[in-house]
Amino acid sequence: MKHLLASVARQLATSEMLVRPISMAADMFMSTRGCLMTFHRGASAQAWEKLPNRDFYLDTDFLDQFLSHLNERGWDVVTMEEAIRRSRLGGSNGRFVNFSIDDCYRDTFEEIVPVFRRYGVPVTLFVTTGIPDGTLPLWAAGLEDTLLNNDRVMLEDGAVDVPTSEAKREAFHRIASSWDGPQAASRYVKFCELNGVDMDAMHWKHAISWEMLEELRGDPLVEIGGHTVTHARISSLSPDGALGELKGSRDRLVERLGIPAKHFAFPFGRSGDCGPRDFAIARDAGYASAATTRKGLVRKGQDEFSLPRCTINGSDRSLATMELHLTGLTGMAARMTGRV
Ligand SMILES: [Zn+2]
Repeated sequence: MKHLLASVARQLATSEMLVRPISMAADMFMSTRGCLMTFHRGASAQAWEKLPNRDFYLDTDFLDQFLSHLNERGWDVVTMEEAIRRSRLGGSNGRFVNFSIDDCYRDTFEEIVPVFRRYGVPVTLFVTTGIPDGTLPLWAAGLEDTLLNNDRVMLEDGAVDVPTSEAKREAFHRIASSWDGPQAASRYVKFCELNGVDMDAMHWKHAISWEMLEELRGDPLVEIGGHTVTHARISSLSPDGALGELKGSRDRLVERLGIPAKHFAFPFGRSGDCGPRDFAIARDAGYASAATTRKGLVRKGQDEFSLPRCTINGSDRSLATMELHLTGLTGMAARMTGRV
Protein backbone atom coordinates (compact mmCIF):
# COMPACT_ATOMS: atom_id res chain seq x y z
CA MET A 1 0.00 0.00 0.00
CA LYS A 2 2.89 2.30 0.82
CA HIS A 3 4.11 2.01 -2.77
CA LEU A 4 0.63 2.57 -4.15
CA LEU A 5 0.16 5.69 -2.05
CA ALA A 6 3.64 6.92 -2.86
CA SER A 7 2.90 6.54 -6.55
CA VAL A 8 -0.47 8.31 -6.26
CA ALA A 9 1.20 11.06 -4.25
CA ARG A 10 4.00 11.42 -6.80
CA GLN A 11 1.52 11.77 -9.61
CA LEU A 12 -0.49 14.33 -7.67
CA ALA A 13 2.62 16.15 -6.58
CA THR A 14 3.60 16.73 -10.19
CA SER A 15 0.94 19.40 -10.22
CA GLU A 16 0.21 21.40 -7.10
CA MET A 17 -2.77 22.66 -9.14
CA LEU A 18 -4.44 19.44 -8.02
CA VAL A 19 -4.21 20.24 -4.32
CA ARG A 20 -7.15 22.64 -4.34
CA PRO A 21 -9.59 20.42 -6.29
CA ILE A 22 -8.88 17.47 -3.95
CA SER A 23 -9.57 19.66 -0.94
CA MET A 24 -12.71 21.12 -2.45
CA ALA A 25 -14.08 17.70 -3.40
CA ALA A 26 -13.50 16.52 0.16
CA ASP A 27 -15.32 19.57 1.51
CA MET A 28 -18.38 18.62 -0.45
CA PHE A 29 -18.86 15.22 1.12
CA MET A 30 -17.48 15.71 4.59
CA SER A 31 -18.49 18.13 7.29
CA THR A 32 -16.79 17.97 10.67
CA ARG A 33 -13.50 16.23 10.46
CA GLY A 34 -10.24 16.22 12.32
CA CYS A 35 -6.90 14.91 11.25
CA LEU A 36 -4.33 14.02 13.90
CA MET A 37 -0.83 13.95 12.47
CA THR A 38 2.36 12.75 14.06
CA PHE A 39 6.07 12.76 13.35
CA HIS A 40 9.23 12.35 15.37
CA ARG A 41 12.07 14.67 14.45
CA GLY A 42 12.69 17.84 12.50
CA ALA A 43 15.63 19.18 10.50
CA SER A 44 16.18 22.07 8.12
CA ALA A 45 15.92 21.20 4.42
CA GLN A 46 19.69 21.50 4.05
CA ALA A 47 20.41 19.09 6.94
CA TRP A 48 17.54 16.78 5.96
CA GLU A 49 19.09 15.98 2.57
CA LYS A 50 22.11 14.33 4.21
CA LEU A 51 20.43 12.42 7.04
CA PRO A 52 20.87 8.62 6.92
CA ASN A 53 17.43 8.08 8.53
CA ARG A 54 15.65 11.02 6.95
CA ASP A 55 12.23 9.37 6.69
CA PHE A 56 12.11 9.76 10.48
CA TYR A 57 12.40 13.57 10.21
CA LEU A 58 10.13 16.22 8.84
CA ASP A 59 11.87 18.90 6.81
CA THR A 60 11.04 21.99 8.90
CA ASP A 61 10.95 24.19 5.78
CA PHE A 62 8.20 21.91 4.48
CA LEU A 63 6.45 22.04 7.87
CA ASP A 64 6.46 25.83 7.59
CA GLN A 65 4.93 25.60 4.11
CA PHE A 66 2.32 23.10 5.30
CA LEU A 67 1.25 25.27 8.26
CA SER A 68 0.86 28.18 5.88
CA HIS A 69 -1.23 25.99 3.55
CA LEU A 70 -3.50 24.87 6.42
CA ASN A 71 -3.99 28.47 7.45
CA GLU A 72 -4.91 29.51 3.90
CA ARG A 73 -7.31 26.60 3.54
CA GLY A 74 -9.13 27.36 6.79
CA TRP A 75 -7.96 24.41 8.88
CA ASP A 76 -7.62 25.11 12.60
CA VAL A 77 -4.50 23.72 14.24
CA VAL A 78 -5.55 22.67 17.74
CA THR A 79 -4.38 20.85 20.86
CA MET A 80 -5.38 17.23 21.46
CA GLU A 81 -7.67 18.52 24.21
CA GLU A 82 -9.47 20.77 21.73
CA ALA A 83 -9.57 18.06 19.04
CA ILE A 84 -11.40 15.79 21.46
CA ARG A 85 -13.76 18.54 22.54
CA ARG A 86 -14.68 19.26 18.92
CA SER A 87 -15.13 15.58 18.07
CA ARG A 88 -17.61 15.34 20.93
CA LEU A 89 -19.55 18.34 19.67
CA GLY A 90 -19.59 17.43 15.98
CA GLY A 91 -21.88 19.69 13.96
CA SER A 92 -20.29 22.77 12.53
CA ASN A 93 -17.09 22.58 14.49
CA GLY A 94 -15.28 22.42 11.24
CA ARG A 95 -11.96 21.12 10.19
CA PHE A 96 -9.10 20.76 12.57
CA VAL A 97 -5.62 19.33 12.65
CA ASN A 98 -3.50 18.33 15.61
CA PHE A 99 0.23 17.78 15.33
CA SER A 100 1.89 15.51 17.87
CA ILE A 101 5.60 14.92 18.19
CA ASP A 102 6.33 11.46 19.57
CA ASP A 103 9.30 10.44 21.77
CA CYS A 104 10.83 13.97 21.95
CA TYR A 105 14.39 14.70 20.98
CA ARG A 106 16.46 17.85 21.35
CA ASP A 107 15.25 19.05 17.95
CA THR A 108 11.67 19.14 19.30
CA PHE A 109 12.88 22.04 21.42
CA GLU A 110 15.32 23.61 18.95
CA GLU A 111 13.75 23.05 15.53
CA ILE A 112 10.10 22.04 15.73
CA VAL A 113 8.37 24.08 18.45
CA PRO A 114 9.77 27.37 17.00
CA VAL A 115 7.97 26.69 13.69
CA PHE A 116 4.62 26.30 15.49
CA ARG A 117 5.36 29.44 17.50
CA ARG A 118 5.88 31.40 14.27
CA TYR A 119 2.31 30.58 13.28
CA GLY A 120 0.93 30.98 16.81
CA VAL A 121 -0.56 27.48 16.70
CA PRO A 122 -0.27 24.67 19.26
CA VAL A 123 1.67 21.44 19.17
CA THR A 124 1.40 18.32 21.35
CA LEU A 125 4.50 16.58 22.70
CA PHE A 126 4.19 12.91 23.66
CA VAL A 127 7.24 12.36 25.84
CA THR A 128 8.93 9.00 26.41
CA THR A 129 10.22 9.80 29.88
CA GLY A 130 13.24 7.48 29.60
CA ILE A 131 14.67 9.99 27.10
CA PRO A 132 15.00 13.04 29.42
CA ASP A 133 15.80 10.62 32.27
CA GLY A 134 18.73 9.27 30.23
CA THR A 135 17.65 5.66 30.83
CA LEU A 136 16.50 4.81 27.29
CA PRO A 137 19.38 4.15 24.87
CA LEU A 138 18.81 6.21 21.71
CA TRP A 139 20.56 3.62 19.60
CA ALA A 140 19.03 4.63 16.27
CA ALA A 141 20.00 8.28 16.79
CA GLY A 142 23.54 7.27 17.83
CA LEU A 143 23.94 4.94 14.86
CA GLU A 144 22.67 7.60 12.48
CA ASP A 145 24.92 10.30 13.91
CA THR A 146 28.01 8.07 13.69
CA LEU A 147 27.26 7.20 10.06
CA LEU A 148 26.60 10.84 9.21
CA ASN A 149 29.91 12.03 10.65
CA ASN A 150 32.25 9.26 9.49
CA ASP A 151 33.19 7.81 6.13
CA ARG A 152 33.95 4.43 7.70
CA VAL A 153 32.32 2.70 10.67
CA MET A 154 33.31 -0.47 12.49
CA LEU A 155 30.86 -3.31 12.99
CA GLU A 156 31.47 -6.53 14.91
CA ASP A 157 32.27 -8.32 11.63
CA GLY A 158 34.45 -5.63 10.10
CA ALA A 159 34.59 -2.14 8.61
CA VAL A 160 31.94 -0.58 6.38
CA ASP A 161 32.77 2.32 4.07
CA VAL A 162 30.06 4.96 3.88
CA PRO A 163 31.53 7.79 1.81
CA THR A 164 28.27 9.11 0.33
CA SER A 165 24.84 10.07 1.66
CA GLU A 166 23.34 7.20 -0.29
CA ALA A 167 25.79 4.70 1.23
CA LYS A 168 25.04 6.10 4.71
CA ARG A 169 21.29 5.69 4.17
CA GLU A 170 21.68 2.15 2.89
CA ALA A 171 23.99 1.23 5.82
CA PHE A 172 21.64 2.78 8.37
CA HIS A 173 18.67 0.74 7.23
CA ARG A 174 20.68 -2.47 6.93
CA ILE A 175 22.31 -2.14 10.38
CA ALA A 176 19.18 -0.84 12.15
CA SER A 177 17.05 -3.71 10.88
CA SER A 178 19.69 -6.23 11.98
CA TRP A 179 19.77 -4.69 15.50
CA ASP A 180 16.05 -4.08 15.93
CA GLY A 181 14.58 -5.98 18.88
CA PRO A 182 15.56 -6.67 22.48
CA GLN A 183 19.25 -6.92 21.62
CA ALA A 184 19.47 -3.44 20.05
CA ALA A 185 20.81 -1.79 23.21
CA SER A 186 23.66 -4.29 23.65
CA ARG A 187 24.58 -4.13 19.95
CA TYR A 188 24.73 -0.35 20.27
CA VAL A 189 27.04 -0.54 23.33
CA LYS A 190 29.44 -2.71 21.31
CA PHE A 191 29.16 -0.38 18.29
CA CYS A 192 30.05 2.62 20.48
CA GLU A 193 33.10 0.79 21.84
CA LEU A 194 34.28 -0.14 18.34
CA ASN A 195 33.82 3.40 17.03
CA GLY A 196 35.02 5.39 20.05
CA VAL A 197 31.60 6.93 20.62
CA ASP A 198 30.95 8.51 24.05
CA MET A 199 27.48 7.08 24.68
CA ASP A 200 26.52 9.62 27.30
CA ALA A 201 27.57 12.61 25.20
CA MET A 202 25.78 11.11 22.19
CA HIS A 203 22.59 10.68 24.23
CA TRP A 204 22.46 14.31 25.30
CA LYS A 205 23.31 15.48 21.79
CA HIS A 206 19.97 14.02 20.69
CA ALA A 207 17.73 13.78 23.77
CA ILE A 208 15.34 16.39 25.03
CA SER A 209 16.22 17.32 28.64
CA TRP A 210 13.97 18.04 31.60
CA GLU A 211 15.29 21.63 31.55
CA MET A 212 14.02 22.04 27.98
CA LEU A 213 10.69 20.49 28.93
CA GLU A 214 10.42 22.83 31.94
CA GLU A 215 10.80 25.74 29.55
CA LEU A 216 8.22 24.29 27.14
CA ARG A 217 5.79 23.56 29.97
CA GLY A 218 5.24 27.30 30.42
CA ASP A 219 4.42 27.85 26.74
CA PRO A 220 0.65 28.10 26.16
CA LEU A 221 1.17 26.64 22.67
CA VAL A 222 2.74 23.43 24.00
CA GLU A 223 0.63 20.55 25.30
CA ILE A 224 2.54 17.70 26.97
CA GLY A 225 1.33 14.09 27.11
CA GLY A 226 2.69 10.63 27.90
CA HIS A 227 4.35 8.09 25.58
CA THR A 228 5.51 5.41 28.12
CA VAL A 229 8.79 5.15 30.02
CA THR A 230 10.78 2.81 27.75
CA HIS A 231 8.93 3.04 24.43
CA ALA A 232 7.64 -0.50 24.87
CA ARG A 233 5.26 -2.28 22.52
CA ILE A 234 2.34 -2.26 24.95
CA SER A 235 0.47 -5.32 23.58
CA SER A 236 3.54 -7.47 24.30
CA LEU A 237 3.50 -6.69 28.05
CA SER A 238 1.61 -8.25 30.96
CA PRO A 239 -1.30 -6.13 32.25
CA ASP A 240 0.85 -4.95 35.18
CA GLY A 241 3.79 -4.23 32.91
CA ALA A 242 1.59 -2.23 30.53
CA LEU A 243 0.03 -0.24 33.36
CA GLY A 244 3.52 0.44 34.74
CA GLU A 245 4.64 1.92 31.39
CA LEU A 246 1.57 4.14 31.01
CA LYS A 247 1.22 5.22 34.61
CA GLY A 248 5.00 5.44 35.08
CA SER A 249 5.38 8.06 32.36
CA ARG A 250 2.38 10.01 33.65
CA ASP A 251 3.73 9.98 37.23
CA ARG A 252 7.17 11.09 36.05
CA LEU A 253 5.71 14.02 34.10
CA VAL A 254 3.79 15.06 37.22
CA GLU A 255 6.91 14.70 39.35
CA ARG A 256 9.29 16.61 37.05
CA LEU A 257 6.97 19.13 35.42
CA GLY A 258 4.08 19.36 37.86
CA ILE A 259 1.57 18.78 35.10
CA PRO A 260 -1.13 16.10 35.06
CA ALA A 261 -0.62 14.81 31.51
CA LYS A 262 -4.10 14.12 30.17
CA HIS A 263 -3.33 12.51 26.83
CA PHE A 264 -1.31 9.48 25.80
CA ALA A 265 0.04 8.04 22.55
CA PHE A 266 0.92 4.37 22.10
CA PRO A 267 4.44 3.64 20.86
CA PHE A 268 4.30 2.00 17.40
CA GLY A 269 0.49 2.23 17.56
CA ARG A 270 -0.71 -0.12 14.84
CA SER A 271 -3.36 -2.74 15.48
CA GLY A 272 -0.85 -5.41 16.54
CA ASP A 273 0.86 -2.99 18.93
CA CYS A 274 -2.12 -1.94 21.06
CA GLY A 275 -5.67 -3.25 21.36
CA PRO A 276 -8.83 -3.08 23.50
CA ARG A 277 -7.05 -4.32 26.64
CA ASP A 278 -4.49 -1.54 26.25
CA PHE A 279 -7.11 1.14 25.58
CA ALA A 280 -8.71 0.19 28.94
CA ILE A 281 -5.30 0.33 30.64
CA ALA A 282 -4.79 3.88 29.32
CA ARG A 283 -8.01 4.86 31.06
CA ASP A 284 -6.95 3.08 34.28
CA ALA A 285 -3.60 4.90 34.17
CA GLY A 286 -5.45 8.21 34.47
CA TYR A 287 -5.35 9.46 30.91
CA ALA A 288 -8.35 11.10 29.21
CA SER A 289 -7.40 9.85 25.73
CA ALA A 290 -5.03 7.56 23.86
CA ALA A 291 -3.82 7.85 20.28
CA THR A 292 -2.73 5.10 17.91
CA THR A 293 -1.02 5.35 14.52
CA ARG A 294 -3.96 3.83 12.64
CA LYS A 295 -4.65 6.16 9.78
CA GLY A 296 -8.01 7.87 9.48
CA LEU A 297 -9.98 10.92 10.49
CA VAL A 298 -11.58 11.86 13.78
CA ARG A 299 -15.33 12.31 13.52
CA LYS A 300 -18.19 12.86 15.93
CA GLY A 301 -18.52 9.94 18.33
CA GLN A 302 -14.87 8.90 17.96
CA ASP A 303 -13.69 6.52 20.72
CA GLU A 304 -11.22 8.64 22.69
CA PHE A 305 -8.92 5.75 23.66
CA SER A 306 -8.21 4.55 20.12
CA LEU A 307 -7.75 7.83 18.28
CA PRO A 308 -6.50 7.50 14.70
CA ARG A 309 -3.33 9.39 13.76
CA CYS A 310 -1.53 9.73 10.45
CA THR A 311 2.24 9.37 10.62
CA ILE A 312 3.93 11.86 8.34
CA ASN A 313 6.81 10.19 6.59
CA GLY A 314 9.72 12.57 6.13
CA SER A 315 10.05 11.75 2.44
CA ASP A 316 6.51 12.90 1.72
CA ARG A 317 7.27 16.54 1.17
CA SER A 318 4.35 17.59 -0.98
CA LEU A 319 1.12 19.32 -0.06
CA ALA A 320 -0.72 16.86 -2.32
CA THR A 321 0.44 13.98 -0.12
CA MET A 322 -0.69 15.86 2.98
CA GLU A 323 -4.11 16.34 1.37
CA LEU A 324 -4.40 12.55 1.07
CA HIS A 325 -4.23 12.45 4.88
CA LEU A 326 -6.55 15.44 5.37
CA THR A 327 -9.22 13.98 3.13
CA GLY A 328 -9.00 10.58 4.83
CA LEU A 329 -7.82 8.82 1.67
CA THR A 330 -4.77 7.28 3.35
CA GLY A 331 -7.04 5.89 6.08
CA MET A 332 -9.44 4.44 3.54
CA ALA A 333 -6.58 2.85 1.61
CA ALA A 334 -5.12 1.38 4.82
CA ARG A 335 -8.45 -0.18 5.78
CA MET A 336 -9.04 -1.53 2.27
CA THR A 337 -5.65 -3.23 2.22
CA GLY A 338 -5.83 -4.42 5.84
CA ARG A 339 -2.73 -2.45 6.81
CA VAL A 340 -4.01 -0.95 10.04
ZN1 LIG B 1 7.30 6.74 19.68
